[in-house]
Amino acid sequence: MTSDDFSSARRTPRHDLESSSAATVSAGPGPGPAPADLLRRLRARGAGDPVTHVERVPARAGVPAPWPSWAPEELRAAFTRRAVVAPWQHQAEAANLAYEGRHVVVATGTASGKSLAYQLPALATLLADPRATVLYLAPTKALAADQLRAVAALELEGVRPACYDGDTPRAEREWIRRHSRFVLTNPDMLHHGILPGHAQWSGFLRRLAYVVIDECHTYRGVFGSHVAHVLRRLRRQCARFGATPVFVLASATSGDPATAAGRLTGLPVTAVTEDSSPRGGVTFALWEPPLLPPDSGASSPVPPQATGDHDDLHQVRRSALRETADLLADTVAEGVRTLAFVRSRKGAEVVAANARRALDDAVPGLGDRVAAYRGGYLREERRELERALLHGDLLGLASTNALELGVDLVGLDAVLICGYPGTRASLWQQAGRAGRSGQEALAVLVARDDPLDTYLVHHPEAIFGAPVEATVLDPANPYVLAPQLACAAVEAPLTPADLVLFGEGAKEAVDELVAAGALRQRPTGWYWRHRERPEVDLRGEGGAPVAVVESSTGRLLGTVDGGSSHFLLHPGAVYLHQGVSYVVDQLDLADGCALVHTEEPDWSTHARDVTDLSVVSVRSYVDAGPVGMFLGEVDVTSQVVSYQRRRIATGEVIDTRPLDLPTRELRTVAVWFTLSPQSLALAGVQPADVPGALHAAEHAAIGLLPLMATCDRWDIGGLSTAVHADTEAPTVFVYDGHPGGAGFAERAYGTAAAWLRATRDAIAECGCETGCPSCVQSPKCGNGNNPLSKPDAIRVLDVVLTNLPD
Ligand SMILES: [Zn+2]
Ligand SMILES: [Zn+2]
Repeated sequence: MTSDDFSSARRTPRHDLESSSAATVSAGPGPGPAPADLLRRLRARGAGDPVTHVERVPARAGVPAPWPSWAPEELRAAFTRRAVVAPWQHQAEAANLAYEGRHVVVATGTASGKSLAYQLPALATLLADPRATVLYLAPTKALAADQLRAVAALELEGVRPACYDGDTPRAEREWIRRHSRFVLTNPDMLHHGILPGHAQWSGFLRRLAYVVIDECHTYRGVFGSHVAHVLRRLRRQCARFGATPVFVLASATSGDPATAAGRLTGLPVTAVTEDSSPRGGVTFALWEPPLLPPDSGASSPVPPQATGDHDDLHQVRRSALRETADLLADTVAEGVRTLAFVRSRKGAEVVAANARRALDDAVPGLGDRVAAYRGGYLREERRELERALLHGDLLGLASTNALELGVDLVGLDAVLICGYPGTRASLWQQAGRAGRSGQEALAVLVARDDPLDTYLVHHPEAIFGAPVEATVLDPANPYVLAPQLACAAVEAPLTPADLVLFGEGAKEAVDELVAAGALRQRPTGWYWRHRERPEVDLRGEGGAPVAVVESSTGRLLGTVDGGSSHFLLHPGAVYLHQGVSYVVDQLDLADGCALVHTEEPDWSTHARDVTDLSVVSVRSYVDAGPVGMFLGEVDVTSQVVSYQRRRIATGEVIDTRPLDLPTRELRTVAVWFTLSPQSLALAGVQPADVPGALHAAEHAAIGLLPLMATCDRWDIGGLSTAVHADTEAPTVFVYDGHPGGAGFAERAYGTAAAWLRATRDAIAECGCETGCPSCVQSPKCGNGNNPLSKPDAIRVLDVVLTNLPD
């Protein structure tokens, strides 16, 4: 690998705004100021110090390993031609395990070279056995195409790698089935195309030696549960043809990857987690915007007629967008090439516009060196952007994650991350954009006004220590299991042995399919009774999907699953699709479609619902004296009743508008805890404050669950009450927002003590007095964040934690 030698490029003056203007800059910038110095200047600019932690992630030299003795010379030579001189230790370890026939998951950092870990055993086997085949699964077509290029570039005789997905021309499909020995596809194609057509694939499946599952952490929640059964169906077809392939999985770093991979495949999987690839050093700062004084409305740039929501008399922090814009302006003024990651496109534009304005105020014209990156750029436009950044004409870029899709930016001096991107994997992926060869870089995570962000900036060990966030899925979800068993029955009649393969709940699901008339039991097994195949969408999550249609053109933009449609597509909702913003005119639930038009308002919308919940059954519980912790099935009735409009730049509430939508029923899985009224009284919680205490604890607990499981706070719901009819006690419920559950509540139950301790700490450590969006307020609260009692929420959680065993 070569890199541009920046040290020989002509340098533009640094730290000297007057002499630096767009017109005179033609050569590439030299190295920026040392990250530690840069950070010192950035944090010295405001009144207080916003930095809560600085982690120096040292550079690491790679640990190479010898080529495995079984890797043929031809393969080693091919890799060497592609500049892979030797494998890193973790690659060799995983490859050796897989070659010995052990199922293995390699879970290491971004760009640690996970692909070599499966390419080595897979390709060595294809070279040694001219009949063997390999099936590679990626979550996206783009990644499969990438891998195809990498494997094809090795130019190995007789492998004939090929992508087989929805875009593959009909004419090529038969050739691929017959002749390719390395087929790259995705779970949807496996589900819709390959498994139903298994007769045509029998030659390929009979000789299948390896199944590679790349980016396996993306198979989570309901989608992951579906994929788990698609893989069981694959194993079943292979077994019918006499093949028992070895599974090799690649994952982002996560908590307990072996368990997650085992659930996904249904097989015992060994994990390799020690990353031995080299990396550059990064100075990583955690940044918490300051709390604004409660009466800061006067300094707000919002016009006076747009008044705030008077229900919200709580304190707020300075918005992460404004803070990021200031940081971007400051780093650009220092001559530092900086990329800011912002969650939404509108947010990226706000950051870029504010940074440009600040720079132009300092030095007219300097603002031209900052741009926003929009999704949907043409290839040439992306190349132009890369060129401008490389040469230093452009110094600052604000972008959404869409950047990952097309622009090849390397060697930035600093990366600003506006808000925790949801998972550690994404965080490191974004931070990994910083650092030219051999040079130290700066990364800054700017916390949003959100309990999880707040927790993370005060608990750096959750970011830099051992990961706890696990990929969860629940293959036993009956709403997933039954349709998957139906698909399996079409592919071949189900036998008692299959019930073992499909695992917990399979017998009950088969009985229900028989009762519903979908399966017929015969002496040789259970048979599918209908002429048509069942229609099962791996990514559909309960309820018929709602089509999103642009009214002016009739164009179908996409679909939203029924469960989320009331939240995302209510009239007036701002709906984002591939970075473009639309506003919903009409939601027609009878026809299953929403009519939208393009519009980019300055606000985002946040739907609120009201919820009722009843307990159906208890699966498991812990009796901890005055405290009870439960996992079980619940029925949730909810109705989206209104939505808030919030100004994007400031997060300020513009207004709350009513909605008229029907109620919905959801049978799902919940975790809940109860406390005795006596224990609350003893802890000093007055009876009148119990509702606010539980409500505040519930909000924060939902906000912190993504720390334990890769979920979004929108995947989960909650309910708290001073006395619940089914538990007859003060209770806090947290439930999966998907029919049948998705594994989130179960993970919460399994890690209850750690989860609620983090929740307690997040509330206690928040600097506000009465509660704010960083701790106990929730943007989706159906009750307008009322009542909430921050100090009593801490008392509630202390009672739970004192009694609950670890
Ligand atoms: Zn707070
Ligand atoms: Zn609430």
